[in-house]
Amino acid sequence: MTPWIALAIPLLIVAFLLYRRYARLRKRRALLATPLSPEQRAVVERLVPLVRRMPEPLRLTLEGKMNLFLDQITFRGQNDLEVSDEMRLSIAAQACLLIVNSPAWYNTLRNVLIYPSAFLTHRGTHDGHLVHDNNHATLGESWARGPVILSWDHALHGGLDAEDGHNVVIHEFAHQLDGLSGHTDGIPILRKGQAYAGWETAMLDAYHDHVDRLERGEYTLIDPYGATNHEEFFAEAIVTFFERPQALRREEPALYAQLAELLALDPATWA
Ligand SMILES: [Zn+2]
Repeated sequence: MTPWIALAIPLLIVAFLLYRRYARLRKRRALLATPLSPEQRAVVERLVPLVRRMPEPLRLTLEGKMNLFLDQITFRGQNDLEVSDEMRLSIAAQACLLIVNSPAWYNTLRNVLIYPSAFLTHRGTHDGHLVHDNNHATLGESWARGPVILSWDHALHGGLDAEDGHNVVIHEFAHQLDGLSGHTDGIPILRKGQAYAGWETAMLDAYHDHVDRLERGEYTLIDPYGATNHEEFFAEAIVTFFERPQALRREEPALYAQLAELLALDPATWA
C-alpha cells in the first residue's frame, strides 16, 4: 500500500463519521422544527386534553419533540394488537410532556411495547433492571435502557382524564427520566444550577410526610403507590405535578418548586 492510500483511508473514515453525525443532527433539528399535521393535532387534543391547557409556544415545542420521539421509537403491539396512529400520538404526547421544556431526552429508549389491556408479567422484581409496578396484572413497566411496556387501555384513559391523578404513561416515563442518571432511584439528573441539597430535602420531607399520612389512614394527594419507595414516589409526584398542579403547589410547595425547576414547567399557571 502506498503511503498516501494509508493516509487517505483513515481520513475517509473520519469524514464519513463526521458527515453521519452532521446528517443526524440536521435531521433532529428538522424534526424538532416540524409541527404536527392538523389531523394529528386534532387527535392529540382529543386524546390528551392536558395539552390544550399548555401555553401556545410550549405546545409547538411539544409537537416537535413528539416528531423526534415518533421517529426514534418503534411501537410494537403485543397479543395481536395492531398499533394505530392514535396509539402512537397519545403515547408520544404524554411521554414528551415530561421533557418538553428541558434538555433531557430519552436517549436509550428504542421500543415501546403495547398490550391491549392490563397484562400478566412473569418477570421478577429482583433482577435489578425492572422498575416494577408488578402486580398480578400490570398496567405498565419501565426497564432501564428500555423498553417501556404499556396497557393501551390504561394509557388511553390516563391521557383522556387529565385531572384524576392517575397516568400510567407519565408514571413509566418518569422512571425513564429518572434512569437517565444511570440509576432509577428517584434522583434524576438535576438541572444546571439546581442544588442537590434542596432537592433531597424537598423530596425526603414530602416522602416521609406521605408515608406518615398513609400510616395514620389519612388521604394523600399523591397516589398511595408512591409510598413503595423513592423511585415510585418520584414517578407519582410527577403524575400529580401534571394532573393536580395547583393542589400540589399548595400542599407541597417545596416539592412542587423542585419539580418545576427540574422540568422547567409551571403547570399550576396553565389555563
Ligand atoms: Zn413505577
